[in-house]
Amino acid sequence: MTLPFPFDNSYARLPDRFYARIAPTPVAQPSLVRINRPLATSLGLDADWLASDEGVAVLSGSQVPEGAEPLAMAYAGHQFGNFVPQLGDGRAVLLGEVVDRQGIRRDIQLKGSGPTPFSRRGDGRAALGPVLREYLVSEAMAALGIPTTRMLAAVMTGQPVYREAELPGAVLTRVASSHIRVGTFQFFAARGDAEGVRLLAEHVIARHYPHAAQAEHPIRAMLEAVIAAQARLVAHWLLVGFIHGVMNTDNMSIAGETIDYGPCAFMDAYNPATVFSSIDQGGRYAYGNQPRIAQWNLARLAETLLPLLDEDEPTAIKLAEESLNTFVPAFESAYHDGLRRKIGLSDGQPGDQDLVRALLAAMVENQVDFTLAFRRLADAVQGPDHDEPVRGLFLDPTAFDAWAVTWRQRLAQEPQSRQAIRAAMRATNPAYIPRNHRVEEALAAAVEHRDFAPFEALLAVVQHPFDDQPDNARYAEAPDPDSRVYQTFCGT
Ligand code: AMP
Ligand code: MG
Repeated sequence: MTLPFPFDNSYARLPDRFYARIAPTPVAQPSLVRINRPLATSLGLDADWLASDEGVAVLSGSQVPEGAEPLAMAYAGHQFGNFVPQLGDGRAVLLGEVVDRQGIRRDIQLKGSGPTPFSRRGDGRAALGPVLREYLVSEAMAALGIPTTRMLAAVMTGQPVYREAELPGAVLTRVASSHIRVGTFQFFAARGDAEGVRLLAEHVIARHYPHAAQAEHPIRAMLEAVIAAQARLVAHWLLVGFIHGVMNTDNMSIAGETIDYGPCAFMDAYNPATVFSSIDQGGRYAYGNQPRIAQWNLARLAETLLPLLDEDEPTAIKLAEESLNTFVPAFESAYHDGLRRKIGLSDGQPGDQDLVRALLAAMVENQVDFTLAFRRLADAVQGPDHDEPVRGLFLDPTAFDAWAVTWRQRLAQEPQSRQAIRAAMRATNPAYIPRNHRVEEALAAAVEHRDFAPFEALLAVVQHPFDDQPDNARYAEAPDPDSRVYQTFCGT
């Protein structure tokens, strides 16, 4: 008989101090909300089995499948700049790892699966709303081509969780390249456990950055690979208007995937100072701060590696600084390339960044919707008689007109046909993102009325972000002033 999950658990083979072995806590009455069938298939899992009673028992944490070695991972982290030496999976267990059809090892984790030794005062549970938010937003990110953890399933537990109100409980099955975080390195470094840091680094190299093993200095190569992955990731976020919301070092993946979707949000009107998270009073994790914060977090990672970079501390610090200095050029190159593509320019010329900056400045000034502006700009490639939809987004449309003159002069130097430029812009500028007001609407229907239709509809739309979908055009629209969302909540 083939097992439902062909587990091969490399993390569980690390020493005991890397985790606490703990099974998920059974729930009262598991019921399926959703299985991600294409993802199940790509993992080599049987989606029909997952949707069966037996499968749902596993996905709710009521049954431990054969071959699983459930554990809660240990990690530390800087939360809003303050170091906490022990966090860890307080409401999640790693069931194990499977190797997917592309040969990539993937963690299968239950989130909201009950208390663990890392729960502190928490109940180990998750509420339905945040589970559905993570499902929607992470699947939207995947469809946008942005590295992210994925959702294999969501189930309800049939048990309430108590937050500011009584809410339905749910468990999410999360798939990740790994759940190793900057904070995982910090956990060992903070204990002076140099051997732990070394074993973790070796595990990370073997699993995520095998080329680093061949480098002259594998640890340095690993650090630089993480820096490069994070630089690209944050550039991606900015290019679609995504705000993570809680970029603590425990929420930053070593594999360079977007992880831990809490009070995350996509910006409507463009403004780099935008913050949604109710817990981010100082704006530390504002949209425009994300590159700086990523760099700060990576410096915390580098610190944990100092003893491995060189025996001589000043030399180690110098090497770490050199590696950290690769962040800004890597970020800027990805970000500037992406912005250039967003306005239809294939390769860079001097002055292109000024052109982009002028547009962004006009967008801030005129409170222009970020997503709509770039999507509609693609149509304006056809000529000034197609400008109205984009120029109409500006409080003062003549601000667009002034910019468009220079833009068209620059476009004239592009070798491609107008049609090709427009097609390229439409493939990089999404029409559909999980807009906050739509997300809130979908979550409210599910939580208040167990009506999952709006969730399913929104999910279907954001899974095809670059298609026109005329029947779903309302999902592309910016919120009207009454439905605009100004704050999002963790709900943990
Ligand atoms: P987060 O804000 O979700 O990144 O979580 C930060 C830390 O709090 C992690 O160690 C989580 O495991 C823990 N945590 C969050 N929510 C809960 C909960 N309901 N029960 C136990 N631990 C939790
Ligand atoms: Mg977290």
